[in-house]
Amino acid sequence: MIETVRNPLPMLPVAPLHTASNRERAGPVARRAFTENSLLAALPRKDRQRLLAGFEPVTLTFGEVLYESGQPIRHVYFPIDCLISLLTTVEGHGALEVGLVGYEGMIGVPLALGIDVSAVDAVVQGSGAGMRMKSASFRRELRQNRPLQRALHGYAHALMVQITQAAACNRFHAVEARLARWLLMTRDRLGTNHFHLTQELLGNMLGVLRVAVTNAAGALQRRKLISYSRGDINILDGNGLEAASCRCYQIVKNVQDHAYGGHAIHEN
Ligand SMILES: [Zn+2]
Repeated sequence: MIETVRNPLPMLPVAPLHTASNRERAGPVARRAFTENSLLAALPRKDRQRLLAGFEPVTLTFGEVLYESGQPIRHVYFPIDCLISLLTTVEGHGALEVGLVGYEGMIGVPLALGIDVSAVDAVVQGSGAGMRMKSASFRRELRQNRPLQRALHGYAHALMVQITQAAACNRFHAVEARLARWLLMTRDRLGTNHFHLTQELLGNMLGVLRVAVTNAAGALQRRKLISYSRGDINILDGNGLEAASCRCYQIVKNVQDHAYGGHAIHEN
């Protein structure tokens, strides 16, 4: 069992993986590309340094539940090289992934809107480093830090686009194109072409049964875009995978790439 898992939810995709051997296999296997969170990196140095002083460095572990739907938000999290899934559950169905958050964003967007209860589950999908701050401290900081407010608004918009696009994508686009998209999104957030995603997780990402995941992964493999074995994924041809993905990937990426204006966010 994983000692650090808090309040594991029976519906979560990671539930069947809570064994030592699976846990070892579950995290990304080749990485450490990112050393800082890009939302924080976009802040002017003075504001960033003051903010950083109030953070607590944390190591987030695969399967760890950061938020539960309907429960109070106790901390905000800024991932560095970990990957967090935002999941929603519908009675009688498994979890569905509605958002993916890594070094480019943060967990706790509702606080920026004055809401202190989470509407989704937030679960660690790839172990790694991050920083966190108590919600009350973060709210205080937010009130007096205009550049942070703007960065958060930029990220809240980018996340809204990601979630909105996922709704359309799940309804209209083929599983193979959607799988290509989620693999690219995972790659971008982990900074590596080689990572581990089980079929259960992929099924939750795509909202389909495992057999559909197997078929779609097999098709991408036959096109020599990825190799896929027991959840170990290697992206062999990133450009080819982008071509195989639906346009949703690029739409969401463009918004995220410009979320912080491409430069430090200045007070005026
Ligand atoms: Zn799509």
